[in-house]
Amino acid sequence: MTTNPLYETFARAPLAFDRGEGCWLIAEDGQRYLDLAGGIAVNSLGHSHPHLVAALVEQAGKLWHVSNLYHIPGQERLGERLVEASFADKVFFTNSGAEALECAIKTARRYQYVKGHPERYRIITFEGAFHGRTLATIAAGGQAKYLEGFGPKVDGFDQVAFDDIDAAEKLIGPETAAILLEPVQGEGGVRSFPPSSLKRVRELCHKHGLLLIFDEVQCGIGRTGKLFAHELANVTPDIMAIAKGIGGGFPVGACLATAEAASGMTAGVHGTTFGGNPLAMAVGNAVLDVVLEGNFLDEVARKALLFKQGLAAVADEYPNVIEEIRGTGLMLGLKCKVPNTKFVQALRDEKTLSVGAGDNVVRLLPPLTISDEEIRQAVERIRAAANSLSKAG
Ligand SMILES: *Cc1c(COP(=O)(O)O)cnc(C)c1O
Repeated sequence: MTTNPLYETFARAPLAFDRGEGCWLIAEDGQRYLDLAGGIAVNSLGHSHPHLVAALVEQAGKLWHVSNLYHIPGQERLGERLVEASFADKVFFTNSGAEALECAIKTARRYQYVKGHPERYRIITFEGAFHGRTLATIAAGGQAKYLEGFGPKVDGFDQVAFDDIDAAEKLIGPETAAILLEPVQGEGGVRSFPPSSLKRVRELCHKHGLLLIFDEVQCGIGRTGKLFAHELANVTPDIMAIAKGIGGGFPVGACLATAEAASGMTAGVHGTTFGGNPLAMAVGNAVLDVVLEGNFLDEVARKALLFKQGLAAVADEYPNVIEEIRGTGLMLGLKCKVPNTKFVQALRDEKTLSVGAGDNVVRLLPPLTISDEEIRQAVERIRAAANSLSKAG
C-alpha cells in the first residue's frame, strides 16, 4: 500500500468510476449508479453525450490552445450566443466558477473606479453564500470554516443574513460598490431568494449607483428550467458569473456584463492563459446547441415538477426523515431530519449519488437530460433510503 500522494482536502467516498452513460455512472467493479449529483451540477447533459463527445473530438483533432494573444473564433461565437440569450453585452471566459467570480468582483470595482469612485470597492453578500475557494471568493462567501488559517480576510466584503434586504439597505455606504448573490443558493442549502427580494435588490442598486452581481455558477444554464435562474424573477443583473453547467464536464466559466458595467475592463487590466481555449469553447457551444434547442428548457421544467411531486410524496411518508422539499427546477434539496451525511450514505447504498449541502440538506442535481423513467427510479431509491433511515432511527 503506497501512501496517498494527494492533498487530504477532500473527504472522498470510497468509489471510483470508469465510465458514464447519460444519468448513469459505472464503477470500477461494474456496479451502475444513478447519478443525481451530476458532478455537482456540472454534467448538465449527462455523461458521454454524443453531441459533446463529437464536438470535443473534432476540436481535439484541429487545435487545442493558442492563448488569448490571438482571436479565437469559438470564443467569439459562444460569447455572441450568450449575449444574444441574456442581459449581457460583454463576456470574459475563465476556467472555473471562482475565476468567473474574481472577474465579476474586479469588473464591479473597476467600474466604480473609472466612474470617479475609487473609494467604492465594498460588496454586500448574504449568509449561506458560496462563491469559490480563492482568497477573494472565500471572503465574499464569508464562511468561517473556509477562511480559518488563511491569513487576513480579503477586505471589502460585508455580509447580512440570508434574504434580509432591509439589513442590506442599511449597510449601503459611501464605499459600497455592488451587491452579490446567488438567486438560488447551492452550497448554502438550495435556498431561493423570493422574486420580490430580487426586485428590491435591483431597485436598491439603481438608487445607490451600485452594480448587481448574480452568481449563477450553479443555478444557471437551464438548471431551473430557464437558461438563467433570474429570468424566473424578471430581474436582470449588471454582471453575472456562470461556470459548471456551461462546460457539461469540461472546465469553463464566464463573466457576463452589460457594456456599461464592463466599461472599466479595458486592454491589459485583466487576463487569463487558459480561459476560453478552443477545446473549452467547442464544448460550451455544443452544450448551448442542446440547451437552447426546441423545448429543452420547458422539458426541464416539466420533469422537475414530476420529480418534485414524487419527492413530496416520499416526504409525506417519512416525515421523521425528510422535513421539506426545496428548490427550483432540477436543483432540488431534501431538508433532512437525520444528518444529511447519513442520507447521502443511505442513497449510495441504493446505488444513487447525491450531494450534501449546508442547512442539513441533500442536493439533487441530476443531468437535465434525465428521463421520466429515471426520475421514477430516482424517487423509488430515495423512498428506499428514507425507509431504511426511518427504521434505523
Ligand atoms: C461551484 C460554485 C462556485 C465555484 O466554482 P469553482 O469552479 O469550484 O471555482 C462559485 N459559486 C457557486 C454558486 C458555485 O456553486
